[in-house]
Amino acid sequence: MTRLWNDPADFADEMIDGFVAANARSVRRVTGGVVRATQSPAGQVAVVIGGGSGHYPAFGGLVGPGLAHGAAMGNLFASPSTQQVFAVAKAADNGGGVFFSYGNYAGDVLNFDAAQERLRAEGVACETVTVTDDIFSASPAEKQKRRGIAGDLTVFRTAAAAAEAGYDLAGVTAVAAKANARTRSIGVAFTGCTLPGADHALFSVPEGRMAVGLGIHGEPGVDETDIPTADGLAELLVSRLLDERPEGAGTRVVPILNGLGSLKYEEMFVVYRRIAQLLETAGLEIVDPHVGEYCTSFDMAGTSLTLFWLDEELERLWDTPVDTPAYRRGSVAPQQRSEASDAVADVVEIVPGDDASRASAITVAAALEVLVRTIDDNVDELGRLDSIAGDGDHGIGMQRGAHAALAAATAAVAAGAGAGTTLERAADAWSDRAGGTSGALWGVILTSLAAKLGDAGSPSPLDVAAGVAAGASGVMDYGKAEVGDKTMVDALVPFSSALSSAVDAGASLTDAWRTAAARATTAAAATADLLPRMGRARTHGHHSVGIPDPGAHSLALIVTAIGETLAASKEN
Ligand code: ADP
Ligand code: MG
Repeated sequence: MTRLWNDPADFADEMIDGFVAANARSVRRVTGGVVRATQSPAGQVAVVIGGGSGHYPAFGGLVGPGLAHGAAMGNLFASPSTQQVFAVAKAADNGGGVFFSYGNYAGDVLNFDAAQERLRAEGVACETVTVTDDIFSASPAEKQKRRGIAGDLTVFRTAAAAAEAGYDLAGVTAVAAKANARTRSIGVAFTGCTLPGADHALFSVPEGRMAVGLGIHGEPGVDETDIPTADGLAELLVSRLLDERPEGAGTRVVPILNGLGSLKYEEMFVVYRRIAQLLETAGLEIVDPHVGEYCTSFDMAGTSLTLFWLDEELERLWDTPVDTPAYRRGSVAPQQRSEASDAVADVVEIVPGDDASRASAITVAAALEVLVRTIDDNVDELGRLDSIAGDGDHGIGMQRGAHAALAAATAAVAAGAGAGTTLERAADAWSDRAGGTSGALWGVILTSLAAKLGDAGSPSPLDVAAGVAAGASGVMDYGKAEVGDKTMVDALVPFSSALSSAVDAGASLTDAWRTAAARATTAAAATADLLPRMGRARTHGHHSVGIPDPGAHSLALIVTAIGETLAASKEN
């Protein structure tokens, strides 16, 4: 249960404001998240971490000397947008390149990679290591697909220590990759979490039962058992992790027993007592054990055990002092405060479109209004579909994005923008505010459409069809999903090809759009039979058989509603 909030939609922003107010000694607010409030030497590699909010101390609580230089902080359980990651990295950069590390989730990968490309295009060297410690999220043969959970800490901390020791970007990357390869975690949960303002838990575990392998966003577990004794749990956690010792593992390990939000320290100590006995019996030397909260999941009751298998270099880096809001080790020498202020994003003036394009811009804004209404009316259903194999945020993510897009489009229209610029502003606002995978992808769709519509003349039906086609190929380029992978691509591609063929055959935009929308609806419904191969839902694909893909379903709802509005306006 979460009890305290103002407007739930403002929760993440207000949480960050309060976090910064309480920790101004350590962190400074910048667009997209926080950076250190203290100076770093020129030329030092900047370690930038991040992810959705709701996992404190991950990620903002881990910014400071000895740990990250900056954290991109997304909305609750939603990856930060590309713009956010980019802005934080720019603010954190010391001229020595940027090293990104975060848990391996589809939305985070999409947005961090896009930000990385943007930085590279500006000449900033960047490298990335995603954390993949959760051994229950994919088999050993598919290690690179595993999610990141509390093991994040070992990778962030050793990478940052390497940066502070003067390693260059390649050196920091090598340390982080080695730390990740030597970090393994498993988690269990007893109850799900309830997001602010929600009237029920995002996911649940039956009373008296324990979900094994449940993800930190409630991605369903791999097994369910009766709740064992504390010792029984210790035995389960340790035995599973010892079964998967990394290659080259020595005998020195750091155990991290992480609480997910509402498990008590006292309970964890009882469990840890047995964990320590078992590790010693197995002939291991325990180094610097951690029992506490390092990566939470709101008020979820659960715990995870991480084993970090040291070598000489990793142990040396692990031992360096750290001083961040939520994590302190040893003593850090006094630091000089940074005088920098957040570079305010350039406000680009709107160049007015011609009369015809301004008239089309009004239609664009009207279509976005229909889109917003469609999402508002279906927000719970979209969340429910996404909670079956995903993380339950598709409704609220689409809602945030769509509302921001409409507001940006309305402002653009008022400033005299043409259709292209109006859509471009909407696209940017959508991906920035929505975060997550679908937010980034809707940004791609609208940006592609914007480029084909332009700011001069009224777009022809052929232009619209070409814009949608560019959106479909953009989504596939960006997200790497193909038809049949159970994603929004399964509705978007048939929609686009039906639109193009109808328009090519001479149909009016309204008729072509409605025909295409009907195809999208059928195709979205047919995704129920598919097994997901992309995105968050991949790990727990079997849960979603019989249920349509949420992103395909929302796309079909949107194009259908827009088609009906086009038809209604033609009749008037
Ligand atoms: P997140 O997955 O980050 O929580 P959402 O819940 O808003 O984001 O959106 C989930 C939807 O995003 C999925 O139902 C699917 O349609 C779409 N999606 C996920 N990954 C991809 C991808 N790689 N390519 C295309 N669409 C994707
Ligand atoms: Mg989701």
